Amino acid sequence: MIKNIKKIIQILDEIFQNPKTELYYKNEFQLLVAIIMSAQTTDKQVNKINKNFFEKFSTPKELFELWEEEIKNNIKTIGLYNSKAKNIFLTAKMLLENYNSQIPENLQELQKLPWVWVKTAKVWLSIIKNSSYLAVDTHVHRVLNRLWVVSTKTPIETDKVASKKLNGEDLARLHHTLILFWRYYCLAKNPKCNWCKLFEFCSYKEKNI
Ligand code: SF4
Repeated sequence: MIKNIKKIIQILDEIFQNPKTELYYKNEFQLLVAIIMSAQTTDKQVNKINKNFFEKFSTPKELFELWEEEIKNNIKTIGLYNSKAKNIFLTAKMLLENYNSQIPENLQELQKLPWVWVKTAKVWLSIIKNSSYLAVDTHVHRVLNRLWVVSTKTPIETDKVASKKLNGEDLARLHHTLILFWRYYCLAKNPKCNWCKLFEFCSYKEKNI
C-alpha cells in the first residue's frame, strides 16, 4: 500500500465532488476524436474548435465522408493539426471498415486505432466505461511524485508502479480528480500551494508560498 494514499484520495474527492472531463463532446466517438485532438493542446482550445466541428459529424461514417482536407480546415488552429487530421480521418476509416463503426472497449484493441496511445485509450475508457484506469501523462506523473505516491523518473514508470500498487477503485477515482487537481492547483510552474489541501503530504522542495 502506498503511504497516505487513502487520505489523499479522500481529500481529492472532497475538493472535486463531481469530477468529469472538461472536453466537450456529444457521443463516444466525438469524445475519442476530442482526446486525440487534445495531445499537447489545452482542452479549452480543443473545445473552441469542436463547438462547430462536432456539428458536422457524429459517426465514423460522417467523419470519413468529410475527408482529410476538410478535417484539416476545421482543426487548423491547434498544434500538430496536419498529423491530427490525418489520424482522425484514418481512425474513422478503420472504425468504419474493421469495427462496424463501434469503438472497441478493450485497452489493447483500442490502441490499434491510429494515434490512440495507452493514455488516450485509458482516458476514453475511464470516461465512457468508468474503467479502473489511471491515465498517466507528464502532469499526473509530476503530481504523484510531489505527493510521494510514487518515486519515479518517467510517466511510463509511474503508470507501471501505480497500476501495480493501487487497486482498481482507487485508480478510477484518482483518474478523474487528479486531472482537475494538476490543472487548478498543482501546476508545473507556480503551483497554488497556499490553497492546497494536500500541502501536508507534499515533498516538493520549491513550494510556491
Ligand atoms: S503543496 Fe503545491 S506543489 Fe505540493 S501538491 Fe500542493 S499545489 Fe502541488
